[in-house]
Amino acid sequence: MRVLVLGSGVIGTSVAYYLARSGHEVTVVDRQPGAALETSYANAGEVSPGYSAPWAGPGVPLKAIKWLLMQHRPLVIKPMLDPAMWRWCLQMLANCNEAAYRVNKSRMLRLAEYSHADCARCAMRLASATTSARRHAALFRTQRQLDGLGKDIEILRQSGVPFELLDRDGIVKVEPGLASTQHKFAGALRLPGDETGDCFTFTQRLAKMAQDLGATFRFGVDIQRLERERRAHHRRAHRRRAADGRPVRAGARQLFDAHARAARSAPAGLSGQGLLDHGADHRRLVRARESTIMDETHKVAVTRLGDRIRVGGTAQLSGFDLSLADARRRTLEHVVTDLFPRGGDVSRAEFWTGLRPMTPDGTPIVGGTSIDNLFLSTGHGTLGWTMAAGTGRVMADLISGREPEISLEGLGLARYGRAASRQAAGGGLRPARA
Ligand SMILES: Cc1cc2nc3c(=O)[nH]c(=O)nc-3n(C[C@H](O)[C@H](O)[C@H](O)COP(=O)(O)OP(=O)(O)OC[C@H]3O[C@@H](n4cnc5c(N)ncnc54)[C@H](O)[C@@H]3O)c2cc1C
Repeated sequence: MRVLVLGSGVIGTSVAYYLARSGHEVTVVDRQPGAALETSYANAGEVSPGYSAPWAGPGVPLKAIKWLLMQHRPLVIKPMLDPAMWRWCLQMLANCNEAAYRVNKSRMLRLAEYSHADCARCAMRLASATTSARRHAALFRTQRQLDGLGKDIEILRQSGVPFELLDRDGIVKVEPGLASTQHKFAGALRLPGDETGDCFTFTQRLAKMAQDLGATFRFGVDIQRLERERRAHHRRAHRRRAADGRPVRAGARQLFDAHARAARSAPAGLSGQGLLDHGADHRRLVRARESTIMDETHKVAVTRLGDRIRVGGTAQLSGFDLSLADARRRTLEHVVTDLFPRGGDVSRAEFWTGLRPMTPDGTPIVGGTSIDNLFLSTGHGTLGWTMAAGTGRVMADLISGREPEISLEGLGLARYGRAASRQAAGGGLRPARA
């Protein structure tokens, strides 16, 4: 089958790889000159099934107000007149309860765990040469934060995800770089099954592996729109119309937008910032972290990737705005220097930002649509690198007409209502100008 994949980030490339492995004729289109040059370029590097959880949880609305008032705040909301954004916020609020949190987290864990298992057993190992054995640890600055872990731990237990609760001494044992700042935190949740790696290198290698299997990558091509091909009455009249009758002007982002709108659930763009600390000298790095450390107060992750330090975090609810704000940079710098005062040289860091399209319930959208040859895998939010392998495999299975190995319950557009149902739409989609 001929398959066109829009976007060569970690998700699109994983889908392309698994499709090519299934024998399909795959073409990947991307506006950038190479793979993984947008959001997948410099994320925090965590492959973290154990940390897979929706943002929407009980108590989050109150926490969000507190976050917004902090000096080094993990969350920024840029008020916009876009009704889609406000609809997204309302839907997210509706998910801020215990029952929804449990359901959403278990759905995310299902896909993340599948990704992890798949990564471990298949050819993606090659690309994971960059995935080090470094583990993930969530660091809590207050006892109150630790006490609030109950439901997460219960779900981790139920799902069989290994974890360790560490006191200060325990943390310093696994993270010697934190010895001088141990008075600043109360404890940590360590996830020994999680890993750390460079998503950019991974994606580039995976793209090469997909090419070796016959996939074609067309870079420097900006997708302007998609055209719907009507098959009804055996006519092949090309209509530039979406399922809802409006013109589709689709890049990956607009496409997601159009479908989310149809599903009454427009996701707002959530951007995140990262710092890439280059060339910190080796002596300093020895005193830097061993794991990925997630500072739960500021929601900033600090990761050591070989001789570099990656600091990623802070979220901005701001549509598709990718502008870099000095205040965000200061927050990232604050966290890394506060925890690891001699860990690296932030003045030499590159500052970067990427989008994290997120659904209101946190779970990505993976599966078919009401257009019979259009499939979506998007909305991975803060966990696209973690969920990439499983997403690619599930998508390849679906497109190939095979039964995926995991249940797709709650992963598709169906959970958002009418646009979800794969009712006959009377036609398929074809690229208008690729
Ligand atoms: C600061 C930060 C830290 C993060 N940390 C982690 C982490 O530690 N672990 C984790 O699992 N996830 C993390 N994430 C999330 C993860 O990086 C994303 O979920 C993932 O990269 C999304 O991959 P993608 O392929 O969907 O999107 P992208 O990587 O953005 O790929 C989309 C591609 O589509 C192309 N494209 C878009 N529009 C068009 C168009 N009109 N025409 C042609 N091409 C187009 C783009 O050029 C791009 O290459 C983080 C994200 C951020 C921002």
